[in-house]
Amino acid sequence: MKDISSNDLTNNFPLAARSAEKERSVVRILGTEIGGDSVVVIAGPCAVENRDQLLDIAENVKSRGALIIRGGAYKPLTFPYRSESFFELGEEGLRYLADAREKTGLPVVTEVMDPRLVDLVSEYADILQIGARNMQNFPLLNEVARVKKPVLLKRHFGCSLRDWLGAAEYILHGGNPDVILCERGIAAPHTHQPTSRFIVDLQAVPAVHEFTHLPIIVDPSHSTFRRKYVAPIARASVAAGADGIILDVHPTPEKAAVDPLQALNYEAFGELMTEIQGIAGVIGRKI
Ligand code: PEP
Ligand code: MN
Repeated sequence: MKDISSNDLTNNFPLAARSAEKERSVVRILGTEIGGDSVVVIAGPCAVENRDQLLDIAENVKSRGALIIRGGAYKPLTFPYRSESFFELGEEGLRYLADAREKTGLPVVTEVMDPRLVDLVSEYADILQIGARNMQNFPLLNEVARVKKPVLLKRHFGCSLRDWLGAAEYILHGGNPDVILCERGIAAPHTHQPTSRFIVDLQAVPAVHEFTHLPIIVDPSHSTFRRKYVAPIARASVAAGADGIILDVHPTPEKAAVDPLQALNYEAFGELMTEIQGIAGVIGRKI
């Protein structure tokens, strides 16, 4: 596998590459900045389940310091079967996310999987999430480049930093300057075990800052897949210099429709916020 070369920086991803003129980019979403002095916490359910629950989650994560609400209305679920307890709401979920923004003022990040739905999702979302599985879906990247909403580009669990920056370059080259990278763990022969669902590549955080001007956040929820590991990896992400973290938070995590093993409840989320506020202070940042 090739590492990043000077040819890559000049010819393959010149727009993503850090330069003397452009050391750091700040992505602005409503009043919130990602990539500035503050570490931004994004929180919410894995999947939008119903309106009341989403509004409750939005108020609770906001009161504990989250600046952006997450929630999937379209989910990249491994198997095609849906049921009363395992579902995705589609456009109805997008409407609830917009209601949560209206009620709390929090901007919304949600996943778009289908190039044909980019315009629809953009009507509701403030940040478009490209899921790990779609990192190299180039037609989808071209579509999100076109709509000029900030894009949260998750790293595919099998891709190198070089591949990931190539994907970011598609969005920048397509005319959208607002790309936020998200490390969410990589698969290796020892992963998919209870103790190591994915390996969180924390070295990617300083490496992204070294090679690019783009902000990078970490997803400790989808990478560890287990509640007990989320807080330690979240703390380590902030310590490593991440510009933000994105967390699954749910009022009754064990009953979450999707990913019930990884969500934090409100109390655990609040405790983690206090801890990472302390860590951010030590490295000269704030939350
Ligand atoms: C998610 O954030 O809900 C998600 C499905 O993440 P990933 O694409 O990283 O698996
Ligand atoms: Mn999930």
